[in-house]
Amino acid sequence: MLYFDQTATTKPNQEVLDVYMQTSNKCWYNASSNYVLGTKSKQLFDKASILALNSLGVTNKKVVFTSGATEANNLAIYGICNKYLGTKKRIITTKIEHPSVMSCFEDLASKGFEVIYLNVDHNGLIDLNELNSAINSDTVFVSIMWVNNIIGVIEPIKEIIEIVKKYPRTKLHIDAVQGFSKLKNDFSFDDVDLITISAHKIHGLKGTGALFINKNLDLVAPLKGATQQEGLKPGTIDVAGAVSCAKAMQLATIDINKKYQYVLMLHTYLKNKLSINPNIVINTPDNNYSPYIFNFSMPKVKSETIIHTFEQFEIYASSGSACSAKLAKPEKTIYAISNDANRALSAIRISLCEEHTTSDIDKLVEAIDKITILTKEK
Ligand code: PMP
Repeated sequence: MLYFDQTATTKPNQEVLDVYMQTSNKCWYNASSNYVLGTKSKQLFDKASILALNSLGVTNKKVVFTSGATEANNLAIYGICNKYLGTKKRIITTKIEHPSVMSCFEDLASKGFEVIYLNVDHNGLIDLNELNSAINSDTVFVSIMWVNNIIGVIEPIKEIIEIVKKYPRTKLHIDAVQGFSKLKNDFSFDDVDLITISAHKIHGLKGTGALFINKNLDLVAPLKGATQQEGLKPGTIDVAGAVSCAKAMQLATIDINKKYQYVLMLHTYLKNKLSINPNIVINTPDNNYSPYIFNFSMPKVKSETIIHTFEQFEIYASSGSACSAKLAKPEKTIYAISNDANRALSAIRISLCEEHTTSDIDKLVEAIDKITILTKEK
């Protein structure tokens, strides 16, 4: 079996599972209880918070553990924007965000916010001049993903920070789900107001993730309840979830460069093999990309057909975000970079990891070649 869908989710690391089980078995007490058992749970939770903050490498943040990146993105966006409901303020994002960001912006547009969706070029990059022109003193929020989850393009966060910095009222959020622990950041996370990560993308458990928030920033809690996690995630604290999330973050940050170089070699190997196939269009750009993601289209064949044919070879990949995979629509990012519905309806995302080998890539290419022949015969 060859699993090429690491961008959708990853297999939990055994150490992460062990720490989850140990915490659940030994320290399952309510971290808000005032007796010693509760205090023990709270201490474990506090330790997990410190580990998560250190693993990200931030000095000016607090962390809220969430059920994943979708919840973290919602918390960041509504946490800031709900302060300005009814004021028609401007908020900015891009045309290629994950649905968990995009749908919040669409909802806020319907509530009266002036939403600017930045265009991307044929490589998926935003235009910094467009951001420069769009941002003004009425802009309260900017959300831009670090690495796009469909084609792997890396957005210029360092330059974005410089632009947003000129407007002290504007808060900057980055969805770092596909960048954290895969790439070395060429910017400081301390310079970003809010950062989202998801643990199940880095060998943590489904249902775990986090939002990192500048310590001096007050958010309006979308969920109402008690005061756990500063009231931003009310409800009994999932101590084992937090401990496992922090563990996954810690493990994922070991040997980032070594893993990156190896995966880059695999990515280049795959790209070289596929670029000689005239039926294939490569969607991942040649520069500013994460090697963990490789996206191509076979414009004459529907993504669904390719995915199901892959299955016959026990190869698993996807057409895009699993969160919108059931929609038979042109893939949004591919359409935004190409304006070509056929290309967007036939896109396949191959997610690579450090456990793959060149022989896995050979098998994948063999399957793609067979699909090319089969579809020609029809
Ligand atoms: N943002 C990005 C960039 C993603 O790739 C994903 C997962 N596809 C999410 C957000 C949502 O993550 P989660 O499944 O943890 O809610």
